[in-house]
Amino acid sequence: MHNVDQFFNVMTNIKCHCCSSKSFATCCDPILNGTKTAATSIALMRSRYSAYVMRQVDYLIATTHCSERENYSKEELLNWASSNTWLQLEIIDFKENTVEFKAYFLNDQNQKQIHHELSTFIFENGNWYYIDGEFF
Ligand SMILES: [Zn+2]
Repeated sequence: MHNVDQFFNVMTNIKCHCCSSKSFATCCDPILNGTKTAATSIALMRSRYSAYVMRQVDYLIATTHCSERENYSKEELLNWASSNTWLQLEIIDFKENTVEFKAYFLNDQNQKQIHHELSTFIFENGNWYYIDGEFF
């Protein structure tokens, strides 16, 4: 890369993985790297989708509510995140504590799949956490 500024511009203008149409630098990146907290359950949900895309399993564990954390292993999350190719996130509906979404992905057989979930979140001590989901 001969021009660092040019490279930086490309990086900051890249569209966010969560399909918000914002740039990654102003959407999920600051939440994933800890410089900003997710202000709403939907922002947390979007950042968790981006974490799957980027295989940031530590973030997925950290944003799962402590009462549910024992149900997840880093190994399984990493395996699930990296065996699929994440294509698109579609928000279907949301309320203060719930988000219904569809995540489109290719599985390890290269077949198109849809993960349709109604996720429940809780706001505790200044942070949003994922509790669990109902799957369709
Ligand atoms: Zn985003």
